[in-house]
Amino acid sequence: MKQPTLKTMGQQSGRRSWAEPWKIKMVEPLRMISRAERETALIEAGHNMFLLKSEDVYIDLLTDSGTSAMSDRQWAGMMLGDEAYAGSRNFYNLEAAVRAYYGYKYVVPTHQGRGAEHLLSQAAIKRGQHVPGNMYFTTTRLHQELAGGIFVDVIIDEAHDSQSLYPFKGNVDFDKLEALVEREGAENIAYVSLAGTVNMAGGQPVSMANARALREWSDRHGIKVYLDATRMVENAFFIQEREEGYADKPIAAILKEFCGYTDGAWMSAKKDNLVNIGGWLAVNDEALFDELRNQVVVFEGLHTYGGLAGRDMEAIAIGIAESVQDDHVRSRIGQVRYLGELLTGWGIPIVLPVGGHGVFLDARRFYPHLRQDQFPAQTLAAELYLDSGVRSMERGIASAGRDPKTGDHYYPQLELTRLTIPRRVYTQAHMDVVAESVLTVYQARERTRGLKMVYEPKYLRFFQARFERL
Ligand SMILES: *Cc1c(COP(=O)(O)O)cnc(C)c1O
Repeated sequence: MKQPTLKTMGQQSGRRSWAEPWKIKMVEPLRMISRAERETALIEAGHNMFLLKSEDVYIDLLTDSGTSAMSDRQWAGMMLGDEAYAGSRNFYNLEAAVRAYYGYKYVVPTHQGRGAEHLLSQAAIKRGQHVPGNMYFTTTRLHQELAGGIFVDVIIDEAHDSQSLYPFKGNVDFDKLEALVEREGAENIAYVSLAGTVNMAGGQPVSMANARALREWSDRHGIKVYLDATRMVENAFFIQEREEGYADKPIAAILKEFCGYTDGAWMSAKKDNLVNIGGWLAVNDEALFDELRNQVVVFEGLHTYGGLAGRDMEAIAIGIAESVQDDHVRSRIGQVRYLGELLTGWGIPIVLPVGGHGVFLDARRFYPHLRQDQFPAQTLAAELYLDSGVRSMERGIASAGRDPKTGDHYYPQLELTRLTIPRRVYTQAHMDVVAESVLTVYQARERTRGLKMVYEPKYLRFFQARFERL
């Protein structure tokens, strides 16, 4: 596997070194509060990054969701909002962009990704059916479960091993899929829930060969494949970089070929599509579209706005076209890789290879003295905030929640703290500051105690749970 360094990435595009393909036109001043103030803020927030005030955060790497910087063109598009209740011009622009770049026939706008997940889960899952997927995602699995589905993880084993250098750790394992069909019967499979890249595995990609094989497999069994396209543009970059035969193909062509192996997709436009709010659902089947269009009116809004303002849909339409530019994706992933290379250079344990949207610190290896139910990843997030005001996100036992049958915690193999990089927002100097803070926390690791959960909400507990220091 040839892994270009940042230097060769720059050379590919005719520059000596890598740099962002944009310049800054407007700035938002940042504030850094004192360590004592951060200590107070952390206790008030129950050691939960989701409960901190954004004002009390210095560099915000909680998520890449809805945190992108929009371009001047997208902002200009916001002024062209056609705020009609029905048939807004901006809806047709969005529909045209999804058709052009993702290739699906029918488009339903939603307020964000989970709105689309809700509609698809309700329409395509019958109570008691199984939903195999290449690793769970929090909101995706919950909507599948709320629709009566049973999620089954069919990702390859390498995905659960933070040190495996396999280039496509997001791939589906056909032995696991075949075993499920043998056990349950094809009629008891709702659809295959495919995600590219795989968020919970560290932003790891699915190969084109795997998607193509999945299409053949599902045709043989009469099962549909729906794609979580949230970070599919980033997945396309990894195919271009690592898969034989794709080095000279543009990201846009790779994206479209991949989507062509699936029956439809749901999207959190807040990620790849470079907007602050929005989502969509797109399918090729007319009868399913009819059902979705019917349901969207109940839960989101009319089928030509789905909970969005006209201006939001315009920004997504423009964002889609910008998001598939090779230069954009290369610089986006290049920045993530820059941070990852700094950390690995200092021997700090992270998920390898570095994925598309962030660097995932391996909290198990960071704090080997903490048991998993002492929340090592949550602890690491709290320590980082305390050290420098950098906000990260827990992706471990707290995010995994509980098994609805036994009531016990799910114990995921991966116990990670995610440094998620917003698109087009921070500079290389910010990445240096973040890396130095991780190093400081790493050097104090042996003295660090874990957390206990003192308040636990019923659904998606990681958003609102509260913790105290042991
Ligand atoms: C963010 C995300 C979602 C949910 O989208 P929202 O816009 O947050 O509702 C679904 N799948 C993946 C992989 C995501 O990262």
